[in-house]
Amino acid sequence: MTSFPTMDRLQALDERHLIFCDRLEDPLALEQGSFHFSAKDNLCSRDFQTRSGSRILNGYRPPFDATPIKRLREMGGLLLGKTNMDEFGFGSFSTNSGYGVPRNPFDTQRCCGGSSGGAAAAAALIPEHLALGVSTGGSISCPASFCGVVGLTPTYGRVSRWGLIDYGNSLDKVGLLTRTAHDLERYLPAISGPDPKDPTSLVQPPLDLRGDVGTIGVPAEARAGLSPEVAATFDEALKELSRNGVKVREVRMPSLRFSIPAYYVLATSEASTNLARYCGMRYGEMNEEFDQGFNDFFTDARSEHFGPEAKRRILLGTYSRMVGFRDRYYVKALQVRQLIIDEYRRTFEDCDAVLTPTMPFVAPRFDEIGRMSTLEMYQADFLTSPPNLAGMPHLSVPCGYSGGMPVGMQLVAPQWNEGRLISFARFWEGSFHYRFPEVTA
Ligand code: GLN
Repeated sequence: MTSFPTMDRLQALDERHLIFCDRLEDPLALEQGSFHFSAKDNLCSRDFQTRSGSRILNGYRPPFDATPIKRLREMGGLLLGKTNMDEFGFGSFSTNSGYGVPRNPFDTQRCCGGSSGGAAAAAALIPEHLALGVSTGGSISCPASFCGVVGLTPTYGRVSRWGLIDYGNSLDKVGLLTRTAHDLERYLPAISGPDPKDPTSLVQPPLDLRGDVGTIGVPAEARAGLSPEVAATFDEALKELSRNGVKVREVRMPSLRFSIPAYYVLATSEASTNLARYCGMRYGEMNEEFDQGFNDFFTDARSEHFGPEAKRRILLGTYSRMVGFRDRYYVKALQVRQLIIDEYRRTFEDCDAVLTPTMPFVAPRFDEIGRMSTLEMYQADFLTSPPNLAGMPHLSVPCGYSGGMPVGMQLVAPQWNEGRLISFARFWEGSFHYRFPEVTA
């Protein structure tokens, strides 16, 4: 029997962890629906503002639902609200939100991960909750790992992107954050499938929830740069898998080390063009000074309402695409992307899936994040960016706890093989017990 949270409890959680940017306020509304779900703030929806964590979209209320939201509502779900995130998905700690910084369910001095930080916190803190997240370069895996929940990023094209506020169109994927494999089985079929409004969703084969993971490849390259506690916890998990009959094999994937530069060149290139539409005229914050030229009009709105990370990415992305630099950066990054895809395909000839830790460290404290350079922050995505560049489905599950904080591991399957990931999640749950924070209202 589903036990929905009361409004008091939801409010207490939200005040403590800053999960939502906009949510239901009416206690009676919570009685509705056969299940509760939330959507990351970059998925357009009726009833709530959709601001993608950005001040520039303040006040924007879409008159429609994104396809995944529409499908969950049709299934009987009640949308509780929009979850907090890094502005436009730019970040790994949700510290780049324009609407406060969500706090980790296990320790409020630590981050939730990003960019779907609020989504992961919602899944960890609210029993039986389904959180819709979005990943461009790891934004489902990373917060799932830091908050100790299950995060599934489907194959690129499996779930319609219609109604999603684009970050990088060739990379964006809508996925799920929950506590159990059972929820993945229940909700992935609901949000998947062709949608005439998103042509990339039309080529997909039917979803098959079955699949076997008998042999797992662990790339030696994935071990470089892990914190000692993540390395030790991951090794324990590998032993547990072997004890349960899974063949664990060391593999080589040398091009993985190029994935960070390739990802950040491609993602920022696409982001910089996507952000061109926010000029203070069509959506959200309106610049009222109509007596100036259009250049000043747009510049004022963009200078005032974009956060520093959005501005950095506009500069980086514009630079990589410029005549004279394009071949050296953008085109080169596309070549690396192909190299990574080929390397996964070769690895999948002998292995059913590829396994690594999800993040190189446990959720950092906010003071630690404050001391990190931008490059160090980008580098933290070195294990989550490769499957995203390759468009391959991947899953992050808790694989241990260190100092009370969850450690995640990430399994990558060949394109369209979400079934392998879900079977693995079910199998892993059978031998490993997940912990969720005790919630006192
Ligand atoms: N951390 C990565 C970035 O900042 C990935 C974010 C995402 O997947 N939206 O781009």
